[in-house]
Amino acid sequence: MIDLHLHTTASDGFSTPDALVARAQSVGLTTIAVTDHDTLAAVPIAREAARHLGLRVIPGIEITAVQRGQDVHILGYFVEPGDGELDQFLDAQRADRRRRLAEILDRLVDLGAPVAESDLGVDPDAPAARSVGRPLVARALVEAGHARDINDAFDRFLGHGRPAFVPRRGAAPGEVIGMINRVGGLTSFAHPGKLGLDALIGELAGLGLAAIEAFHPDHAAKDVEKYRRLAAELGLALTGGSDFHGPGAGRVDALGEVVLPVAEFAAFEARRSRP
Ligand code: AMP
Ligand code: FE
Ligand code: FE
Ligand code: ZN
Repeated sequence: MIDLHLHTTASDGFSTPDALVARAQSVGLTTIAVTDHDTLAAVPIAREAARHLGLRVIPGIEITAVQRGQDVHILGYFVEPGDGELDQFLDAQRADRRRRLAEILDRLVDLGAPVAESDLGVDPDAPAARSVGRPLVARALVEAGHARDINDAFDRFLGHGRPAFVPRRGAAPGEVIGMINRVGGLTSFAHPGKLGLDALIGELAGLGLAAIEAFHPDHAAKDVEKYRRLAAELGLALTGGSDFHGPGAGRVDALGEVVLPVAEFAAFEARRSRP
């Protein structure tokens, strides 16, 4: 069983890389990709943990790109920490995340729902590789009694258009795809089902996009079929996974339930050798 979309505590997941690998093995996964938001920090740790368990770890990343003010997540695979251009880009992404987080915390003060930076569970001495995001703020809002649960925190404060929402600054999806391709990786358009940007996928296919993430907990069976057809039309492969963020992250606890069929993974991986 293959799952190409997993988060850890290196970004906004609530499972450490070690705990994630152990959990993946316990549900019967054999190939996993760690795809934290804008950081590769968990990749070497997960690899080491998986080595003894016979699991294959594909190095991955989920990069937040910006398309006319809207966040678009681009998954990158077969990328390694130390790929110079990518490392620099990710440093800038995480710097903008810290800028944005500080602005969000300021707004929450004005809104009468303050949370301190020390409540976010981010070690102040090791923040550089950790990629901070809104789920950490959401959890702190719940713990401070300002929200019922993580979804409530997004609905009332943090979601797009809500009062503590701060827009992101960043590269366009096409630029992100170009960069991943230059360092020898492959990209997939993450969970298109909820975005309403299907027309963009065709445009990105022309810029070197390799796949569409058809298998995802937010996709119903009809969405999977829709993206399978679109991928066939555009000559793209398919990827998929659970987008697992750990227990209690306010999302479906679907580890082991949403997987990528072996044949689809083989077709995706085969694109690595294309000129
Ligand atoms: P950010 O990286 O700060 O843009 O935060 C985006 C992340 O927040 C997504 O990757 C999800 O993990 C999470 N997220 C977004 N909306 C919700 C929601 N309604 N409930 C729980 N988590 C969410
Ligand atoms: Fe996330
Ligand atoms: Fe995402
Ligand atoms: Zn994700």
